[in-house]
Amino acid sequence: MKSKAAVKRIIETLKGIYPDALCSLQYEKDYELLFAVRLSAQCTDARVNMVTPALYARFPTLESFAQADPKEVGEYIHSCGFYNGKARDIVSCAQILLERHGGKVPGTMEELTALPGVGRKTANLILGDIFGQEGYVCDTHCIRITGRLGITDGSKDPLQVEKQLRQSIPPAESNNFCHRMVLFGRDTCTARSPKCEGCPLLRDCDAGKALSK
Ligand code: SF4
Repeated sequence: MKSKAAVKRIIETLKGIYPDALCSLQYEKDYELLFAVRLSAQCTDARVNMVTPALYARFPTLESFAQADPKEVGEYIHSCGFYNGKARDIVSCAQILLERHGGKVPGTMEELTALPGVGRKTANLILGDIFGQEGYVCDTHCIRITGRLGITDGSKDPLQVEKQLRQSIPPAESNNFCHRMVLFGRDTCTARSPKCEGCPLLRDCDAGKALSK
């Protein structure tokens, strides 16, 4: 396992590069973040941000989503892919939020993952961004980069990665760390051609050091 000192250096270096570790999905209401994360599956955040303004203008309240025809919702989110399933999940999620949670997004892992289309990745993000709790959001960037760094053993299984990150990344740092992984994964540690030469994390990166030998 990566030493505590190395993990601390990685966390601090990323903080220096990305002082504002904001989620790149745009939203105003809590449930809008929940729906935006659902839309972001197999899609880019940039694409989601392009479709949500019109979607939220057409369905401005949770009630309007709950009463919506999934087919019409699907027309607004068509370009995000898998739109039939995503539209069904969003409408059904709105109904459940109203029926069981008083129109609020619930704040526990158990309640969140019981919602349609909500897995641990989404639930962790909501817990971190909405409720200020720990949030180990194991998306594709986080899984790839923490594996390369050697913070995890390279597992691609999100649950395994989450378990391993919980052993290394302090809870208070977790949510922002994962947001920074996304930004760093777009800028530097990209999937196909990571820019290891000159990477500020090279000193502590197992994969980067192996490549530069
Ligand atoms: Fe990614 Fe290379 Fe930097 Fe390691 S050294 S974090 S593999 S870009």
